[in-house]
Amino acid sequence: MDEETGYSPPRCRRCLLAEIDRDGVYKTVREYLSSLGDDVKCSADDYAARLAVCRACDRLSDGMCALCGCFVEVRAAKRAQNCPDLPHRWDKIEK
Ligand code: SF4
Repeated sequence: MDEETGYSPPRCRRCLLAEIDRDGVYKTVREYLSSLGDDVKCSADDYAARLAVCRACDRLSDGMCALCGCFVEVRAAKRAQNCPDLPHRWDKIEK
């Protein structure tokens, strides 16, 4: 919310944090993602595929998963993580 005007932008049901970055949080997220080692991160192809699934998911809201509370850009980056829904929505894209 803008403290001067009191305006709160509407929630975005299909946006990633990178697209809405209202409070500069995405810069911190990018720095964190950059700090992850290659042994932790999933491949670029899998990352893009995971985020595409999230974009089409009704659990996504303002870049955050309503099931786990994670920013999906962070959760999707880690190879060992999976979608918290059952069945896991990312399973069909994993190789
Ligand atoms: S992590 Fe899974 S449940 Fe959460 S938004 Fe992405 S696809 Fe949907």
